Amino acid sequence: MNCYCCSGKQFNECCQPLIAGEKAAKNSVELMRSRYSAYCCKKIDYIFQTYHPEQHATNTKTQISEFANTVHFVGLTIINGVEQTDPDTVSFNAHYLLDNKLETLSECSRFVFSGVWYYYDGAITSNKSVGIGRNDDCPCGSGRKFKKCFTHLASGAKLG
Ligand SMILES: [Zn+2]
Ligand SMILES: [Zn+2]
Repeated sequence: MNCYCCSGKQFNECCQPLIAGEKAAKNSVELMRSRYSAYCCKKIDYIFQTYHPEQHATNTKTQISEFANTVHFVGLTIINGVEQTDPDTVSFNAHYLLDNKLETLSECSRFVFSGVWYYYDGAITSNKSVGIGRNDDCPCGSGRKFKKCFTHLASGAKLG
């Protein structure tokens, strides 16, 4: 299947080996993508481990798990990463469904390299929320009406 992170690559050639611990992220963008994919497939331990240790007290596994299990991620757009700017910063838009709304979270994240790459923290630059009508096509891309879409497709899932 296509990777959750919307890279256009296959999951097993993109984020899966990182989440499985078989490969380390080469840069902040790879780590960012793999953490997003880990939210999609609810790999809570991986999200926790890739938080910088200084952030563990305020980002517990329980909190991560609650968020991952409440929202439904349907898309990721990297705005700029290592190619254009400094290697420690990644800006992105993450799209997710929450209740009957499509949320677009824009964040500028900071990463730290300390033997391996860690996510440090992020500044939310905007958080847009659009209501979804019951008869609208579901933003998850399943092709169903929103009111009939009970198990939304995670991003990347629909393209084989
Ligand atoms: Zn990926
Ligand atoms: Zn859906």
